[in-house]
Amino acid sequence: MAPWWNDQFANPASRLHRPGLLAAAAVEQARGRLAAGLGLALGDGPAGMDSQHWAVVFTSGATEANNLALKGLAEAELTAGGQRRHLLTLATEHRAVLDPLRYLACHGFRLTELAVGADGLVDPAALEAALQPDTLLVSVMAANNEIGVLQPLAAIGALCRARGIRFHCDAAQAVGHIPLQPAALGIDLLSLSGHKLYGPKGIGALVIAPGVRLAPQQHGGGQEGGLRAGPLPVPLIVGLAEALALALADREPRAARLGALRDRLWAELQALGGIQLNGALAPRLAHNLNVTVAGVDGTALHRALRRQLAVSSGSACSAGSPSHVLA
Ligand SMILES: *Cc1c(COP(=O)(O)O)cnc(C)c1O
Repeated sequence: MAPWWNDQFANPASRLHRPGLLAAAAVEQARGRLAAGLGLALGDGPAGMDSQHWAVVFTSGATEANNLALKGLAEAELTAGGQRRHLLTLATEHRAVLDPLRYLACHGFRLTELAVGADGLVDPAALEAALQPDTLLVSVMAANNEIGVLQPLAAIGALCRARGIRFHCDAAQAVGHIPLQPAALGIDLLSLSGHKLYGPKGIGALVIAPGVRLAPQQHGGGQEGGLRAGPLPVPLIVGLAEALALALADREPRAARLGALRDRLWAELQALGGIQLNGALAPRLAHNLNVTVAGVDGTALHRALRRQLAVSSGSACSAGSPSHVLA
């Protein structure tokens, strides 16, 4: 990332001078590397977009990618005169999915927030039963950010595909950690985030299947094929692509190592007694464990541990309120 902060600082949208062209080439190379990491080939158009190919639109993170995917799809449906008004998601999704969908539910759409099982997983049959004739979109995350469980994406993708329903997947916790090929899973829109795979904060992307139409949610200079206006942060984009390549290069040994450490931690915690596992142990991210310690006040436990460990009694996005995922 360093040269792109200090020496090669030109705006990649400035195509009339050499430094701008070099910055633009770095962005396009990063876009191609990111796509390749997801098993995708891009087209030649802006953001890799054309009718045959997948596109990658850079955003400030998964929050913005989710907003663009969900609100962009809903608005495009309205603009095109489409009649689909029902949206479906899980009750355990990240707030960056739930809040844009709840916003849409205040603006003419209907939202189902489907309950998951006690193991944190959605039953595809229950999801199928909750689909309606006018379902526009299903949004289901790949890996839960609190309990780490992996949702059955291929089954959900097949249900959506058979009905012409668009399938959005918030994969912020999964990209770089588990094998993920959106094309094979029937995913139409996939959100990812740099800082969830050892990349920089402030960068992410929305990956868009061929033929999916979105209304831009940020207007201005027409960057990213008109889907996301604003100058591109070249150092962050280069860093995101490099982070994904590094994460994929040692993904399997890293998962094996962290999985073994996690299993040992869980075995020793279990031996203490009074500690309950939250969410299915499998399928689950190798580096995730989430437990409830019975009969102990969270604040007191946090105070006892915080000098030795980086611990929280809630996720960074929940600001002190009890976890809706655990609830
Ligand atoms: C972190 C996270 C987000 C938000 O990503 P940012 O890049 O921080 O905006 C969205 N969804 C999930 C599942 C996350 O873990």
